[in-house]
Amino acid sequence: MNIILMGLPGAGKGTQASKIIKKYPIPHISTGDMFRLAIKNETELGIQAKSYMDKGELVPDEVTIGIVKERLSQSDAKDGFLLDGFPRTVEQAEALNGIMDELGNKIDRTINVDVDEEELINRLTGRRICEVCGTAYHLVFNPPKQEGVCDLDGGKLYQREDDNPETVANRLEVNMKQTQPMLDFYKEQDILVNVDGSKHIDDVFVEIDEILQDL
Ligand SMILES: [Zn+2]
Repeated sequence: MNIILMGLPGAGKGTQASKIIKKYPIPHISTGDMFRLAIKNETELGIQAKSYMDKGELVPDEVTIGIVKERLSQSDAKDGFLLDGFPRTVEQAEALNGIMDELGNKIDRTINVDVDEEELINRLTGRRICEVCGTAYHLVFNPPKQEGVCDLDGGKLYQREDDNPETVANRLEVNMKQTQPMLDFYKEQDILVNVDGSKHIDDVFVEIDEILQDL
């Protein structure tokens, strides 16, 4: 089972990824991990990627795609993988199809954890952090026992600059614009499945699990 997992910030993609790899013996391959590994192992591509990152520049597509190819060629990904954070553009999605062709394989499903914008804004703006210990709370999903106060040490809870409604809305807008062409791309290939991410975490996973069991 070769899976791509997609979802906007706050959709719960990370939570679902952990649930998937807990049940299925496939590696969770995220872009960040791939880069870290290539850099740590000092592969030729890893060294190239690092030189761009050190300069604060964007790693060019050919390097990124090369790193993805190296990772997907490893033996633990032979019987399946969960790809997370890649591709980010239609160009990368096309390159990924090329890699899969070369490996004599294909992407089986792109699973999109779908949550509407208003709900995402609610989720993302509800986060509060303890100024003493850094514990994260959520006004709706994980509220502290006493409003505005950390359960653990009585520290004051604050909202991060990044979590204010305007910043969150902007961030989502940028993400949606980036994501839509890829959703269209995978829809055209007939492998896109949208799951309803507004439901309870466990119910979202039931929906994903049904898709995976059919593969
Ligand atoms: Zn605290």
